[in-house]
Amino acid sequence: MPVKAELRKRVCKEIDRYCDEIIAVCESALSHPEPGFKEKRTARLVEDKFIELGIPYRAGLAVTGIKAILKGKQTRPMIAVIGELDSLVIPDHPHADPVTGAAHACGHNAQVAMLIGVATALSRSGVMSWLDGSVALIAAPAEEYIQIEYRQSLRKQGIIEYLGGKAELIRLGEFDDIDMAMMTHTANLPEGKKLLMGGTSNGTIAKQVQYLGKASHAGGSPHQGINALNAATIAMAAINTQRETFKDADTVRVHPIITKGGEAVNIVPADVRMETFVRGKTLDAIKDADRKVDRALRAGALAVGAKVKINTLPGYLPMQNNELLQEVYRQNALRLLGKDEIIPAGTHGTGSTDMGDVAHIMPAVHPMIGGVSGTSHGNDYLVCDHRLAVITPAKIMAMSVIDLLADGATKAKEILEKCKPAMTKAEYITLMNSFLKEEEWQG
Ligand SMILES: [Zn+2]
Ligand SMILES: [Zn+2]
Repeated sequence: MPVKAELRKRVCKEIDRYCDEIIAVCESALSHPEPGFKEKRTARLVEDKFIELGIPYRAGLAVTGIKAILKGKQTRPMIAVIGELDSLVIPDHPHADPVTGAAHACGHNAQVAMLIGVATALSRSGVMSWLDGSVALIAAPAEEYIQIEYRQSLRKQGIIEYLGGKAELIRLGEFDDIDMAMMTHTANLPEGKKLLMGGTSNGTIAKQVQYLGKASHAGGSPHQGINALNAATIAMAAINTQRETFKDADTVRVHPIITKGGEAVNIVPADVRMETFVRGKTLDAIKDADRKVDRALRAGALAVGAKVKINTLPGYLPMQNNELLQEVYRQNALRLLGKDEIIPAGTHGTGSTDMGDVAHIMPAVHPMIGGVSGTSHGNDYLVCDHRLAVITPAKIMAMSVIDLLADGATKAKEILEKCKPAMTKAEYITLMNSFLKEEEWQG
């Protein structure tokens, strides 16, 4: 059998050969952004590529997800390479959908292209016939935890149970035959650095809140009403009073928005809705902040005599990158990028990702690649260097698959032997469900 170096060379050659087609996927996804659980066209784009490459796949997983299998000499170990399908909603982004306002401002369009890059490399090069394990290519829906009311409606219809894509894929058993997982996210990195090795990030829960008051004439008879907007305003102020009690080390983030503020300006608002995340570095930090936020939400209802409904939903678990798997990734990054261009692991991000959920049940990595400009989740976030943002991570991940699965899959087996996951899938599901709460409180 060819040595690993030769196999790595072969996959990189295929990626270079199909470079333009791979980058075209990034551009195509950019021009048709779709938020989570609505990624129909983006999923079709991925399916068409899998058909073109002759890779068997299943679609419609967790509404829009896709899983394709590249079989090697053995079925296991199975390495998942993941790309996220969904966009955000940023109506003033230059590539926003004019009707829905959806826009790729988190670089998931680059991830879709990387996934196709890895698929192209591994299938066209013929390397799978030398590998002692298999690869699952997963196009995952709904990483951005947004449009909670819409997703709750899907949940009420029994279409989904969890509001994030990977959590839902785990629940459905799509990770049951997978041993470890990798993906690469884009990021605008400091000082022009090209790669940030994965560190830790916050976990989160989500809340959907509704204040119910009493409508009346806002000018003529406000005394006959109960102002639900005032209740929400007091709750926001009350949440702010909790901030000094959050420990810096816990990196708590609570950032509510009002999604409905009233019906008409001349009516005392009787139905006001909010959404918020409660993020923290650890589950204990999240639970502590959760309790305080609920207290603050009730305070708003108490002050004006309104009713508050608080729906608490499981979100994402804190991310932890597996060191051994990440070292395989880093060694391949070093083959393409200078040592000085790579920021070592160790930073903590205060955002959240559902890759954290995957990382709780198996070794997983989530490094960040450069090649983008602008502010993450802002109206100016764009891929500006496709070779770096798409082609480089596709090569790194394809080469890492080879290092893990060549030579009897020694490396993958070593990682699985040394790294026991934090919990089983059953324990994960129990934990997720423990966050679920529905409360109705009359102030
Ligand atoms: Zn994002
Ligand atoms: Zn993202």
